[in-house]
Amino acid sequence: MSFNGKILKVDLTSSEVKVEEQPESFYRRYQGGHGIGLYYLLKESKHDVDALEPENPLIFAPGLLTGLRAPAVPRYVVISKSPLTGALGKSEAGGYWGPELKKAGFDALVITGSSKAPVYLLIRDDKVEIKDAGHLWGSETGPVQEKLREELGDKGTQVVQIGPAGEKGVLYANIVNNLAHFNGRNGLGAVMGSKNLKAIAVRGSGKLKAKNEERLKEIFRWTAGQVKEHPLSSMLHKHGTPAGIKTVNAQGGLPTNNFELGVFEGAEELASEDYSLKPKGCYACPVVCKRVVEVNEDDIVVDKMYGGPEYETLAALGSNCGIGDLKVVAKVNEICNRNTLDTITLGMTISFAMKCFEEGIIGPDDTDGMELKFGNKDVLIPLVEKIIKREGIGDLLALGSKKAAEKFGPESKKYLVESKGQEAPMHDPRVKTGLGLQYALSINGADHWFAQHDPFFAAEDGFGVIEMAGLGLTEAVDPLDTGMAKVRLIYYTSVLNSVYDLLGVCVFGYVARSLIPLNFLLDQVVAATGWKTSWFELMKAGERAMAMAREFNRRQGLEQEADKLSESFYRPLAKGPFAGKITLKEEDLNDAVEKYYALAGWNKSGGVSRNKLEELGLGWLVQ
Ligand code: SF4
Repeated sequence: MSFNGKILKVDLTSSEVKVEEQPESFYRRYQGGHGIGLYYLLKESKHDVDALEPENPLIFAPGLLTGLRAPAVPRYVVISKSPLTGALGKSEAGGYWGPELKKAGFDALVITGSSKAPVYLLIRDDKVEIKDAGHLWGSETGPVQEKLREELGDKGTQVVQIGPAGEKGVLYANIVNNLAHFNGRNGLGAVMGSKNLKAIAVRGSGKLKAKNEERLKEIFRWTAGQVKEHPLSSMLHKHGTPAGIKTVNAQGGLPTNNFELGVFEGAEELASEDYSLKPKGCYACPVVCKRVVEVNEDDIVVDKMYGGPEYETLAALGSNCGIGDLKVVAKVNEICNRNTLDTITLGMTISFAMKCFEEGIIGPDDTDGMELKFGNKDVLIPLVEKIIKREGIGDLLALGSKKAAEKFGPESKKYLVESKGQEAPMHDPRVKTGLGLQYALSINGADHWFAQHDPFFAAEDGFGVIEMAGLGLTEAVDPLDTGMAKVRLIYYTSVLNSVYDLLGVCVFGYVARSLIPLNFLLDQVVAATGWKTSWFELMKAGERAMAMAREFNRRQGLEQEADKLSESFYRPLAKGPFAGKITLKEEDLNDAVEKYYALAGWNKSGGVSRNKLEELGLGWLVQ
């Protein structure tokens, strides 16, 4: 089976360690990933808890297929209440840690309470220990991983951890495994830091055994054989996500100068492969799409141990701050990885401060004398270091752009680019309106993986239309459309992406973004579990997880009013092919949000109706 039937629960206040057993029916209903994570979050948390209080649970949950030798399913989710948004905090990562937890015999880890002194958790199969981490506290991620593996005498130990930004409570600190795979968003590293939990080291000697190993092997062999043939996966394999910089710039939607411009003259340099070494990948993934970057110049050295900047980082800290110097952006990426900072919120918070500086809303007295102007690459590294240490202006910017705007004053708010208090990723809804719907509806704030992206469905022969015809998405939809065709596209594919998260799927391995088709994914679930299941049942499981997430936000007081975009998205871009054109209107977007509620069976205030909860087998939430 692809699951163990065991959930590990650790209370850091009482040092109690328990194992809860779950029957097969539990996995059929909640599957894995955010399904299991949300089940425990809703069961174990109080609705009015502050995200940084000990009572806020922090849950790690690999997907249903994670840990098998199935292609591109290495992912696990971390779930909690987010300190950045006050909404659901949810972020997935690939790498190696999730599969190792499954091999140690657990399908999820639920952490509650808070330790008085720094600790780390050591899981070696069923032996679980809470250990002193006083000697690790304050250290960056590379040395911590090295030290733990040395102390444990086992180079194969998988370490998930926080760096100094998480310890200091930067509200967008993230969590990393293997130094280069991030639960990047929503500030979950700050939650881990608030628990005085530095790291979780895992080693498992077990092996998950699928019901039908042969079918999994067949699909694995097919994937490995096709990676270099398929146009999307071969592009990812050869160039990684940084290739997106040139494509998105050519489309006129590359976030530049705090989302004011859609094109950036330094795009070519940001996309350059001058410093790239050979690609690296995740557990059991033949796509191997991750970049490793090394710089050895007189002025800048970048350590390859920390991977390399992805598309999101290159745009957030590069074009979006007006900076086209690849070495500088790669260096800041390395600093973020050593200290565990979300590069998207970091870049967006800096670009927001730059815009406020250029508009005269703040001045050198507010910025410790720094000239926060777009394109000023000299301020980037010192500013990031101040944020990590929470010194001077860095202490305010450590709270993210929305909280910084409270201090900068009302005039600054029109330059925010966010939803639910989380800064937008590097995709502009003014050139693909489906992203606007995603940002508004995403339960954990602006998120670009809530659903699939518009360009894949722009033409009859687009990858999305061909590959997702089986879901009923048989027609092309204009990237600027906001009518029912777009709402249906976003609704169906948001449920699909929820299924991806339940199973541990990486979007860069599967359609529409890559090569593995939907029928192979269903085959893998059948092969892994032996269930006589179907896409209908999987999509219902996806809906169920979305309903639980929605219910969590409702309990935090977040309903329709939270499903909005900041006003900057409704202003036209100032440069590029869309310059001066209004392509997204607030009334159209709000109308599309209401249509989505109707398709999802949610009520007018965006809550999940009682009937819908009952239908999904979530009657226990009604009480
Ligand atoms: S496609 Fe890339 S990111 Fe996804 S699992 Fe494979 S190597 Fe990791």
